[in-house]
Parts: sequence; structure tokens; C-alpha cells
Amino acid sequence: MRLPILLFCANALFAQPAYDLLLKGGRVIDPKNKISAVRDVAIREGVIAAVAPDIPASQARKVVNVSGLYVTPGLIDLHAHVFAGTDGVGLAGGPSSIYPDAFALRVGVTTVVDAGSSGRRNFAHFKKSVIDRARTRVLVFLNIGGSGMPGDDHEQDVTDMDAKAAAALVGANRDTIVGIKVAHYRGPDWTPVERGVEAGTLANIPVMIDFGEFRPERPFQDLVLNKLRPGDIYTHCFYAPVPMLDEQGRLLPYLFEARKRGVLFDVGHGGAAFEFRQAVPAVRQGFPPDSISTDVHSGSLNSGMKDQLNVMSRFLNMGMTIDDVIYRSTWNPARIIHREQIGHLSVGAIADIAVLRVEKGQFGFVDSYGARMDGVQRLACELTVASGRVVYDLNGITRERWDKLGKYQPQGEPYWDGARGGARSRPLPPTR
Ligand SMILES: [Zn+2]
Repeated sequence: MRLPILLFCANALFAQPAYDLLLKGGRVIDPKNKISAVRDVAIREGVIAAVAPDIPASQARKVVNVSGLYVTPGLIDLHAHVFAGTDGVGLAGGPSSIYPDAFALRVGVTTVVDAGSSGRRNFAHFKKSVIDRARTRVLVFLNIGGSGMPGDDHEQDVTDMDAKAAAALVGANRDTIVGIKVAHYRGPDWTPVERGVEAGTLANIPVMIDFGEFRPERPFQDLVLNKLRPGDIYTHCFYAPVPMLDEQGRLLPYLFEARKRGVLFDVGHGGAAFEFRQAVPAVRQGFPPDSISTDVHSGSLNSGMKDQLNVMSRFLNMGMTIDDVIYRSTWNPARIIHREQIGHLSVGAIADIAVLRVEKGQFGFVDSYGARMDGVQRLACELTVASGRVVYDLNGITRERWDKLGKYQPQGEPYWDGARGGARSRPLPPTR
């Protein structure tokens, strides 16, 4: 009887700390698991190892005090443009795509979904040149147009919108392609929408629609009431041309009907697609977006939109609770693209985490139509963890103070934060 006890003691004495990183004392918002409370979060080998009210500091190699901060799943930006660089002929994903690591991790975004910058002809190049090299996880809505978004003229060419070929490419790349994108069409017909839905049906994935030019020949109401399937997404939901309010400023009933059918409404702020005169009445009258996304590109980044946290902060100032804002930026977008391995902090899940601060003060938010909305709170990112590695740390809360480190060692080990090597974010495990 005594031997096993002795063995146990010896193990405990020489055991390594159980966890690599422990985030202590933060307010965890994890909508999937219905947690909104002060909790400690422990990480081991890239996954969430424990979430509990009090995990002893002695069990972790690194302990970070995050009290007063919000600990949320890594944010998911459902609409981004990241096919940056050249394909040897021209700019690969159009003139305004930017590299994901340049804007995402610093605002708590650990997954972006590129919305149609690539098509079946250049997806392979996109994967090799950007997706496989990024620390940010990049998933893709494949453009129904063969070349994605190299320029406006290509996007009008319905002869290059091949549903079967697009679906075949999806079949070979299900780890990365999560949907089909239709965008920027100016013609009077429904061809791009129909081809997109056909490809989505063949591949059994959702379709995201940018309706392009709004024309009387193809009313928007028809799109969301008849053309789209449940689970399909209309992005740019607060774009000025969307019929949203009646003469008295009341929300039009068809919007609720479309939502009841299962059609989803995404923000997709972008350079020109967000109007406070649409968004504020919609939210106040009970029509919040299903997902809060940026439509980030080099234009929107420097105009009203700015970044994921700025777009989320608007909804906070419109009266949406922080839990709801996080839900529509994490777990709900994960469900929309059927990637339920991410967007939550369940034990065993990939450790993608954002640690956020709510700043109080006088702030202004800018839309695409010359308007400003004043606000008193704004989200800021303190720390981002991707696949268990610290990838962004605004105030060095995971670091030791410089004068406590002892003698400088030129040949010393680089500091533990995952900053060296292994830049790739971990691929997603299979869905089921
Ligand atoms: Zn876009």
C-alpha cells in the first residue's frame, strides 16, 4: 500500500508545471459555453487546458494577471481582404488587399475570412503566398468569378462564373474554403447570385453576397426572401441603398421575415458600406447584425472603419451588451461558416484568445457617409494568443521587467512568447 503513495509524492515533487500559460482574474466572456464571469484560463500545448474560478499560480510556467480585463475567444472577422502581393502579372487580390498579420493580431483577431479576393484560377497562389505563411488563420469565401477581385471589369464577366468548377475546388480544399462569394455586380440580371448559390448548393457551403449595384430589375427584397438559402449571408447590411426604414423611420417588416427564413446579415463595414442612419435605428428596433465584421482593406482601414474593435465598439455604444458584441464577433461567425472548433474557450479547444480592455472616455466613430457617432467606451486589445502562443502584447504584461532579468546574455534564449519560429497558425482539426 505504501509504494504507490511514495511514487505519487515523487512525481509531484519533480513534476513540470501543468500549464504553459495562465491568464488569471479576467472576466471571461465565452458565449458558446454561457460563461460571463471572473475565471482563470490555463493553456497547455496550444489548447485550452482549464477554465475555473481559481487555478493555482504554482501550476503554470507563466502567470499573467488580467484582472479588470475581458478574456474572450480570439475574434473572427468574417469579411476581410488579405490576398496581398503580386501574382507575377498584377496585384493578386486587387489593389487594396493587405497581409493579415499586419492588422489582425494587434486587435485580437485570430481568424479572418477572406471574402472573395481569390477565385478558382488564383486560389492556389493565394494559399501558397499568403494563407500558408500567415500567423493569423485565414479561411476563404471563394469568389464565383474565376479570378476573384483583380479589378471591376473581371467581376462583371458572367461567362467566367463556373459553379461546377468552383464547387470542385471547394471539394479539394475544405480545410480552407468555407463559402462562396458573389460581389460587385452591376448588371440587371441575377446570374452571379444564381451561380453562387448553385456552387454553394453543390459544395454544401454558405454563400456570401455583396449585392453590387442595387437595381430595380433585381430588388433586394427578392434576394433575401427568395434567392438566398437559409444560412446564406448578406454582407454590407447597413449599406445606404439597403431598403431598411419606412417614411416614419420604422424597420421594414420583410427584414424580419428574411431573418426568420435563416438568411444572415453581416456588417462588412468596408470603405463605403456602413451608415449610422441605418445601423442605429436597426439595432434600436431589434435588428442587430448576426456577425460584426470589417471588410478590411487598405482603403477602409484608413477611413471610417479602422479595425475590428472600432466596429465592435460602435455596437457597444449603441447599447448592445459586451457579451452580445463578443458573441457576434466569435461564436456566431464560427457557426455561420461551420467552423465550430473555434470561437469559444472550451477545454480542448485551440487556444485562440483575445484579452480586451474597455476604455472609458469621449470617443467618436466615423461611418462611410460623412457622419460621426459619439461614444463613451471603446475596446482596446491588451493581449492576443493564437494557438497557445502570445502573438501580441501591448503593454508587455507577459514579460519580465527589464531590471529584474539579471545580467544581459548575448547568447541567451530568446524570451518565451512564441515570437520565434513556428509562425504558422495551427491548421484546424477536422470538423467532426
Ligand atoms: Zn469586401
